[in-house]
Amino acid sequence: MKRIGVLTSGGDSPGMNAAVRAVVRKALYEGMEVYGINYGFAGLVAGDIRKLTRRDVGDIIQRGGTFLYSARYPQFATGEGQLKGIEQLNRFGIEGLVVVGGDGSYRGAYALTKRGYPCIGLPGTIDNDIPGTDYTIGFDTAINTVLDALDRIRDTATSHVRTFVIEVMGRDAGDIALWAGVASGAEQIIIPEKGFDITGVADNIREGREKGKKHTIIILAEGVMDGKEFAEKLDAIDNFHVRVTVLGHVQRGGSPTARDRVLASQFGAGAVEYLKADKGGLCLGLRNEKIVTHDIVDTLDNMKHKPNLDLYKLNKEISS
Ligand code: ATP
Repeated sequence: MKRIGVLTSGGDSPGMNAAVRAVVRKALYEGMEVYGINYGFAGLVAGDIRKLTRRDVGDIIQRGGTFLYSARYPQFATGEGQLKGIEQLNRFGIEGLVVVGGDGSYRGAYALTKRGYPCIGLPGTIDNDIPGTDYTIGFDTAINTVLDALDRIRDTATSHVRTFVIEVMGRDAGDIALWAGVASGAEQIIIPEKGFDITGVADNIREGREKGKKHTIIILAEGVMDGKEFAEKLDAIDNFHVRVTVLGHVQRGGSPTARDRVLASQFGAGAVEYLKADKGGLCLGLRNEKIVTHDIVDTLDNMKHKPNLDLYKLNKEISS
């Protein structure tokens, strides 16, 4: 292939810019042309497409968000939307497309692949919930952002001998809660993959107090329930006066960590290599520190993301 396109879609994540930069720079290095598509699949259908130069992707490797913007565009799940998208790609002579996004965006790439259009999916989401990869672009930055907040909350929780419930993002996955929980030494981690027993959580707080603990930090993944509801359940059992912090969108922003920038660069350059060789219908992942590829149809139809539940066990052993 000589001319390819790139878009970012769904929830943004730190490192998306680094991925697009790598796609553009590697393609130019290989003598190919790159077109940037603004606002994800919405911009694709609308034809919001422009040629990108080397300079267009200068000074973005360190920035969070995505300079190509992102959008939710449910109409891309329809045949009509997909055909319009392919029409625009053909109009610009774009022979293959790199899609950076979460599982919804992968569905868009999957739909184009099923229609015979070559796509490469790159996992870009803070949630780390994509099958076929150990890590997604943005996850490392997000857990470090959460960790920074948790360290601050621990200071005040200790001063006042308080119990805090911290609600973190992750959609239906508990990865952010697990990693940030272990890294911060949180007393309890509540994730959808494990469920919880509210009386057990309350017993654990009381046992901690008896052991002389000055604070209790409970990390709650948003996929379980909202923080306020969880705190009300705990306070109904005992008078804990639980404080709730919902970290929210702060988790999605910020300058990407070195790890996210390197991963995004490897993924972006890898995508170009496959398209250069006329290979599409793939998504890239990181398995045991090696870049791997999977068939995108197989990934979405047959693979499931699994968080590292060894971390859950570890936290129970060393932090509760
Ligand atoms: P995150 O999980 O980080 O928010 P995401 O990529 O999963 O990111 P979504 O909003 O689910 O975010 O999906 C992004 C876009 O992908 C949608 O707005 C839509 O344009 C496209 N998309 C989602 N599902 C499908 C589908 N079944 N078929 C075609 N396109 C889809």
